Amino acid sequence: MMFCPKCGSMLRPKIVRDKRVMACSCGFVDSKESGKVKFTERKTEDSKVEVIDNEASAYPIVDAECPKCKHTKAYSWTQQMRAGDEPETHFNKCVKCSHTWREGR
Ligand SMILES: [Zn+2]
Ligand SMILES: [Zn+2]
Repeated sequence: MMFCPKCGSMLRPKIVRDKRVMACSCGFVDSKESGKVKFTERKTEDSKVEVIDNEASAYPIVDAECPKCKHTKAYSWTQQMRAGDEPETHFNKCVKCSHTWREGR
């Protein structure tokens, strides 16, 4: 329990600018307590970047023969190469050796 060095009454927790501090009814605020809290929590959440590194585990597995190791199961997905009139390109990624190749022409 903490007491006000000014008037001797009991300090109570108070929220000042999103920080929890110990304050007294006479106006005294214990700044040592508030100094421990830092604004690091918010930054980490906002820095989430959309990952587009073809993490293939999220794609469905289809029957496709890998040109490299002849494995017959591969992850499959389509990707728009350029914006506009071009059709989507079909990609396969070998489950076994992670070799990635384009389907069709
Ligand atoms: Zn006080
Ligand atoms: Zn393969």
